[in-house]
Amino acid sequence: MGKHEFLTPKPIANRIKAKGLQKLRWYCQMCQKQYRDENGFKCHCMSESHQRQMQIFGQAPDRVIEGFSEEFLEAFLTLLRRTHRHSRIAATVVYNEFIADSHHVHMNSTRWATLTEFVKFLGREGHCKVEDMPKGWFITYIDRDSEQVVKARLKRKRIKSDLAEDERQERMIARQIERAQQSMVKTDCEHGDNASLDGSEGESSSEDEYSDSDDDHEGQEDDAKEASKVAGKIAIALQRAAPGPKRTRSVHVIRRKRWPRRRERML
Ligand SMILES: [Zn+2]
Repeated sequence: MGKHEFLTPKPIANRIKAKGLQKLRWYCQMCQKQYRDENGFKCHCMSESHQRQMQIFGQAPDRVIEGFSEEFLEAFLTLLRRTHRHSRIAATVVYNEFIADSHHVHMNSTRWATLTEFVKFLGREGHCKVEDMPKGWFITYIDRDSEQVVKARLKRKRIKSDLAEDERQERMIARQIERAQQSMVKTDCEHGDNASLDGSEGESSSEDEYSDSDDDHEGQEDDAKEASKVAGKIAIALQRAAPGPKRTRSVHVIRRKRWPRRRERML
């Protein structure tokens, strides 16, 4: 609509007359247009734009009606939640508030033919508590949102306690492992002491051999090679001297134990 048309007397008069609520039956839901009288509505129904909309409707009437029904339900529940969340109220009161918005989804384009039918649906689906009173249907909004909030909080709490339990168990297992390792180390040490006592004869001789290059850092690699050679020789010698199973083990321990001691001396 152009600027001049907008300010000419006829459109102004139309706007004045269009103020306030109009008859619900002269509203075209598909085009979302309100008409003041039957004549206007009939003219609209003949128009090309309305015919196009009706073609769209004709292609999938069920889907269109379902869409309007969902929209209607959602808008109605939103209003109820916002204005009468904690009270029991006559369904007609809420409905009158609902249709006060001139562009609300009109009930005649939904799958509910009457308000009573819609109210029964609300009760059946658990959206509201509905009561058939002498003065008509009364509805009470069922506050699922806060119910869900409580449920979610309980769930979070449960998960948290589960996690704490898991952590406790993990800590316990870790402690057990540590204890087991400590006891293993202890028994190892005992074995090691025995071994060094057993192999004391070999140890003293080898120490004499590589004591010359103790403070020489450059020849470290050569030292290591030499030392391992020496250790190997000792091991072979010991095996030849006494090839019992206990001896073999003690030789093995000697080889392992010698290194830390030598490093200490170097430092
Ligand atoms: Zn229309």
